Amino acid sequence: MRTERRDVLVVGGGPAGSTLAALVKKYAPERRVTILERAPGPRHHVGESLLPGLVPVLKELGVFEKIDAAGFPRKLGATYVWGRDRTPWEHDFNDVNMTELLARHGGMPERLEYAWQVVRSKYDEILLAHAGRLGVEVVRGAQADGLLEKDGRVVGATSRADDGTRTRWEAEFTADCSGQAGFLSRFRRVREYDPRLKNVAGYAYYRGAPWMFRYAGHPDKTKIFVCSRPSGWFWYIPQGADLVSVGFVTTVERLKAEGGELEALFDRELAACEELAPSLAKAERVADFDGQGRSFFTHSDWSYLPVASSGPGWLACGDAAVFVDPVLSSGVTLAHLSAHRAAYTILEHWRRPSEGERGLLWADYGAYCRDAAGQYLALALFWYGNDPGVAKWWVRARALQRAVLPAELDDKSAFITVSSGLTQHCDRLSDAASLDDGAIEPGEYPFYRAALPGGREPAAPLDETRPLRLAWPFRVEYAFLPAPGTGRLRAVKRVRFLKADPDDVAAGAFNPRRYVARWHLDFLRAIDGTRAWAGVRAAAAGAGVPDWWLDGPARRFARDLILQGALVAGAPEEARP
Ligand SMILES: Cc1cc2nc3c(=O)[nH]c(=O)nc-3n(C[C@H](O)[C@H](O)[C@H](O)COP(=O)(O)OP(=O)(O)OC[C@H]3O[C@@H](n4cnc5c(N)ncnc54)[C@H](O)[C@@H]3O)c2cc1C
Repeated sequence: MRTERRDVLVVGGGPAGSTLAALVKKYAPERRVTILERAPGPRHHVGESLLPGLVPVLKELGVFEKIDAAGFPRKLGATYVWGRDRTPWEHDFNDVNMTELLARHGGMPERLEYAWQVVRSKYDEILLAHAGRLGVEVVRGAQADGLLEKDGRVVGATSRADDGTRTRWEAEFTADCSGQAGFLSRFRRVREYDPRLKNVAGYAYYRGAPWMFRYAGHPDKTKIFVCSRPSGWFWYIPQGADLVSVGFVTTVERLKAEGGELEALFDRELAACEELAPSLAKAERVADFDGQGRSFFTHSDWSYLPVASSGPGWLACGDAAVFVDPVLSSGVTLAHLSAHRAAYTILEHWRRPSEGERGLLWADYGAYCRDAAGQYLALALFWYGNDPGVAKWWVRARALQRAVLPAELDDKSAFITVSSGLTQHCDRLSDAASLDDGAIEPGEYPFYRAALPGGREPAAPLDETRPLRLAWPFRVEYAFLPAPGTGRLRAVKRVRFLKADPDDVAAGAFNPRRYVARWHLDFLRAIDGTRAWAGVRAAAAGAGVPDWWLDGPARRFARDLILQGALVAGAPEEARP
């Protein structure tokens, strides 16, 4: 068996693998990076409706123009018919000026008003070829089939090529980007399946089916259509002038109860679906899509979060690490974003030789994967578990993102921002420009706990006549934020509130993260030590917090915390001396 040595060995050439490899190579061209992809050529895949949240990654990769010119319909949002109320409702990414929002809060100048609905064999091929052009070695028709380990550390993998040739790849990092196949999960327990979202999906492609939604004067722009049925839900995704993907998602239990034949259930449900049947009446099902020789596809759709996203010598990203039910079309976006963060983490790992710092970096990578996927999971669970009308989903989305969304966003805008994948970039909204930078020493900063008792009270705006009380304990931990376009992660401090009721945390009922800029901690301590706003102000000023900060950011910070429930504003009379 031939032996090869690489800095990074990437298993899998889907969106996650291409992104990870290409970004490492872009910022560290001297490193040797190889992708092993078991498919010898373009391969079929489900996951066709994308979100604008991945656009910044495509731009950073330098592949945006190629994707945009590939002829994929531009996706501007989604239309839903869901639950008991059969009135369609919709959202358009452009209902929120995301470009302006992000630019105002964090300096992201890109235009972000659409994504695409793609044929994955074509989309993934563009990304893989682009990685190759950036200097990544792409080995096609090579399946990783064994893990190399030494002293508890992953030190590479073996592969088998289509012609039977075997190779031993020794690598500093082995990145599992093998999607749901989960190359590494075969060797270690790295996934936690969510029993509440144990679904299956069946799908087919149609010609002669109309686009449900058209923009006058823009033949390239449309939306996806999502429609619930008593036993599941359909997606309807135009993928070309005369090509529509139609998929049906149901639970494993329901499928069993309906006889166990997914294609038969798909056909029955489609024929009975008032919203879809007329559109497909004259359409023809494609008999041999993507050269697969079949007209109906099935896929497991069981959500999971990572138990671990990395370990000594290895990491996982994309579906290999996390998978959330497709009701929010989040998969490919999460694949790009987690791979982006993984690439930055590898690059930062090489820059920071201290083992302690490296430990913090990888711990934060794990937290990022769980947080990013966790918000979609929480929203999907709420979506499936409740049928209260759309306004409740919007409120829910807002609650999930309270920590990072600007306070002025209304509920629907919050939903659009979350469901378009942009909150991952909103990390930069929270005063990131003024975050503390610099070298960090693990243990240098002791965890600070302000364990004050207290229940949650109704949300209230900041009223200076009311006394303030921290309702939840919190601790300070290290986090890392990407400085986009540099391949660098900046060390920041983050307050993580420790809510008393773990069920609320597990249910995603609140978002516990807050990044702290220079004066947030002094301010929180001031709240901890005094009751009235005037007292907080005086104590914070005494600790060196400047007036301009207390008069602006501190007020917004306090108001957000009140809305989130972490800070309680008591009755006005309590504040009187
Ligand atoms: C029913 C369903 C519907 C979905 N709909 C959407 C949607 O509308 N929008 C959306 O964004 N996402 C959707 N997704 C999710 C989306 O498909 C995935 O999130 C996305 O493909 C993940 O990308 P990835 O690069 O992590 O993995 P993949 O795209 O799965 O790529 C993994 C690659 O690894 C290769 N590989 C695997 N094992 C090995 C090995 N041992 N050696 C070498 N190569 C290997 C595979 O051939 C493959 O090319 C859907 C998923 C399902 C199940």
